[in-house]
Amino acid sequence: MSKCPKCSQFVSSVSLAEVNVNAGTKQWVGVSYSCPFCFSVLSVGIDPVALKSDTVSDVTDEMAKVRQDIAALRSQLATLLQQLVQR
Ligand SMILES: [Zn+2]
Repeated sequence: MSKCPKCSQFVSSVSLAEVNVNAGTKQWVGVSYSCPFCFSVLSVGIDPVALKSDTVSDVTDEMAKVRQDIAALRSQLATLLQQLVQR
């Protein structure tokens, strides 16, 4: 079992808290893991669940843009084909 580096208690569980992680202009949802006895922060990291959710959301948004671009290109192609046929 691990010991807290500050209070030397054996730590079998940690307290979890949400924290903001600022990286320049970007902000991520992070989590901190604290000692349940003295509340010292043992570790901080990006929240993997929030990261996954944000990534899925970003990819979904990009796919919607690509679909719109493809629809616009199809429309332009149809117009060009009609112009070619009419010549
Ligand atoms: Zn502690």
